[in-house]
Amino acid sequence: MSSQAWINLAYLAAAMLFIVAFKLLSSPRTAVRGTFLGAAGMAIAIIAACFEGPIVQSVASRGVWPLIMLAAAGLIGGGIGATMALRYPMTGMPQMVALLNGFGGAASVLVAGAELASTCNLAFCDSDPRATTAMSSLQPWTQFAIATALTGLIGAVTFWGSLVAFGKLEELPQFKKAWTDPRRHWINLGLVALTLLLVWGVCTNPDRTILFWLLVVVGSGLGVTLTLPIGGADMPVVICLLNSYSGLAAAAAGFVIDNSVLVIAGSLVGASGLILTAIMCQAMNRSLVGVLFGGLGTTAAVSGDDVYAGKIKSAGAEEIAMVLEGADKVVIVPGYGLAVAQAQHAVRELADALEARGAKVEYAIHPVAGRMPGHMNVLLAEADVPYEKLREMDDINPEFAETDVAIVIGANDVVNPAARTDPSSPIAGMPILDVDKARTVVVVKRSLSPGFAGIPNPLFAADNTLMYFADGKKAILDLVAALK
Ligand code: NDP
Repeated sequence: MSSQAWINLAYLAAAMLFIVAFKLLSSPRTAVRGTFLGAAGMAIAIIAACFEGPIVQSVASRGVWPLIMLAAAGLIGGGIGATMALRYPMTGMPQMVALLNGFGGAASVLVAGAELASTCNLAFCDSDPRATTAMSSLQPWTQFAIATALTGLIGAVTFWGSLVAFGKLEELPQFKKAWTDPRRHWINLGLVALTLLLVWGVCTNPDRTILFWLLVVVGSGLGVTLTLPIGGADMPVVICLLNSYSGLAAAAAGFVIDNSVLVIAGSLVGASGLILTAIMCQAMNRSLVGVLFGGLGTTAAVSGDDVYAGKIKSAGAEEIAMVLEGADKVVIVPGYGLAVAQAQHAVRELADALEARGAKVEYAIHPVAGRMPGHMNVLLAEADVPYEKLREMDDINPEFAETDVAIVIGANDVVNPAARTDPSSPIAGMPILDVDKARTVVVVKRSLSPGFAGIPNPLFAADNTLMYFADGKKAILDLVAALK
């Protein structure tokens, strides 16, 4: 069997591992195995790629230097990746995902740019026997020309869009306020028209590398101006969409360098990102066009004072323990604050204590609770909460009316009834967990400060709500002690 056949076989094995990994990643039970299989697939693909023609030729002409550079790049990149993964707290994962999406986009742009430059060099070098092949790649509207243009555009939009998303998720002061200038639509339209013109330019004149880099610059601007207006509760959709873009850029780069495993892996990421985007839009009752061009999710002008003045009832551990003593059905609603407080193990202890007293305890999981899809599932799985006790929003919502006590821990936007009642609210129409319908609602948080969407929550002022102001973990541990 030829060496190319072995490489193709390795790519096939890698692609199969990616597909199985995706399947396993769809459930928290099997996700860890899925991650390892995906990483194994990527390792196989990288090793096989080292035996591809251009690298072998490069080693033949320049000795071991190309291999040393490859190994150094792998070590530096791997080192940075491992350090980020180990250092970043769980609550910062969405920012890290945003950065990784961005790096994927940037890598694709650099691959396409480098391939274009070397193909141009070869094409103009009569003495090189590969010049004829290079020349044919540089013809107008070939696969090479189209893929190069698309990689430059999508990769640049992904990189800069992801950097802006990172700034927003990290809550950097420069990105706190969404850009709502009505002229932004015209600016975006102008940039889109310019990118289309430059895509056409690259496809018709692939030998003019300057057009490719101009396209990258304009695409970068578009990435920034498209992401800046999006804010608040719409961020999960943007992250999923940028994830999909990074896959599409990689797939296009696969066509540029004729690498089948890059095309497959990129397409898988692109398609799964699009599916996740659709699921997120549905979960938040938003249309994709509305998220991308509506500039929704911006900070509302409503002041918390108007909503809360004189209506807040606060209680301590002893008082809440007495309420819980008489409860037969308790629903725990986790949110981002649970992750900040790392209160998952304490919550499990509380559930055990309540169950020992004969109460039925379940968990209500909102699809965008926390800062990334599945955030709450992962946290609760860490504390060995049985999966069957985690109930999805549509499933548990009808049961809140028969719930004695709903305990909301560090959740805010996902239980904000303004989404149902106030059409002018930035989260209007977003489906929420109907905790306000429970007989008693206990809200554990440190203050009355707003959640990610930056708006007040009328739930805190409701007649049936008791506010328990404390750090999530301390509050729950005190509650367990009081119950005992
Ligand atoms: P929110 O951001 O709405 O609210 C979290 C609350 O947790 C805050 O009000 C905060 O109040 C409280 N909190 C923070 N630290 C602690 C602590 N140590 N102990 C107790 N409470 C604490 O979170 P939700 O989960 O309700 O909603 C998620 C929001 O994030 C939505 O707007 C969603 O759109 C957005 N988002 C979701 C993503 C996803 O994919 N899931 C991605 C990006 C954004 P206080 O400071 O008073 O304690």
